[in-house]
Amino acid sequence: MPLKPDLIVKKMELNPKNIVKPGDLVSLNDYPPEYTGAYEKKGQTKRRLKKLHKELLELQGLLYAESQHSLLIILQGMDTCGKDGTIRRVMGGINVQGCDVFNFKVPTADELSRDFLWRAHKAVPSKGKIGIFNRSHYEDVLVVRVHNLVPEQVWSQRYQQINDFEKMLVENGTVVMKFYLHISKDEQKERLESRISDPTKHWKVEASDIRERAYWDNYMQAYEVMLQKCSTDWAPWYIIPANKKWYRNLVVTECIVERLKKLDMKYPEPSIDVTDLTIGD
Ligand code: AMP
Ligand code: MG
Repeated sequence: MPLKPDLIVKKMELNPKNIVKPGDLVSLNDYPPEYTGAYEKKGQTKRRLKKLHKELLELQGLLYAESQHSLLIILQGMDTCGKDGTIRRVMGGINVQGCDVFNFKVPTADELSRDFLWRAHKAVPSKGKIGIFNRSHYEDVLVVRVHNLVPEQVWSQRYQQINDFEKMLVENGTVVMKFYLHISKDEQKERLESRISDPTKHWKVEASDIRERAYWDNYMQAYEVMLQKCSTDWAPWYIIPANKKWYRNLVVTECIVERLKKLDMKYPEPSIDVTDLTIGD
């Protein structure tokens, strides 16, 4: 009997090419958003995803018990790329007490009156916790660059400032993982159209989605520069093929599980000798 695809694929589903090497020039045209590795359909990934979810829950428990590290997950991508869906499907099974999600919207007047990293720094996870950034400080070199919301001289310094900020976080025990959810322009069209034709999804449609779509090429260019300048040894960028939601979920979950395993975490020694304990009636 032939082996099922999920039994024959390599352990790491993501092609190493999708982890951007520091300084590498990235042309997003070289990354097919519809790529699904060894899989053809969702059903083939279910068992594997279930196993990964179980591992993730255990690793999160260990992260919390040990409280030596925190994990910061950064999600970026074009409108409809699936940031919300990734949070729901990848993190849906973990203990909500150990996880905080922070959405980066248009900055408030208060936020704009500080340096651009202020709101990001305030939101980073404490030791033992997982923090998810739904958009992030990277907006300050993406939407800000595309629309010149600040002078070039200001945004052009931010790549280095971001690298330094993330390095500081890593040196202080935070694992930083950055996922660019890569969809095609056609896929975005389909997703926007399906939102428009489904009354339960109308609330999700914003005028800005349509407006920003017109700047697609400018965004792709801004993303390429971001990937080139801000994929570092301490905080690499992952390019995730995201046209197929089920494949996106599988790969992101796998990357997180593999990264947490590398921390080689241990349950802390008990503060009292539990072998001698008897529990009274
Ligand atoms: P959404 O995530 O779809 O709810 O939209 C949030 C909006 O806030 C997006 O259009 C972002 O581009 C925008 N946004 C986030 N951060 C910034 C920023 N630093 N400057 C300007 N716009 C931003
Ligand atoms: Mg939106």
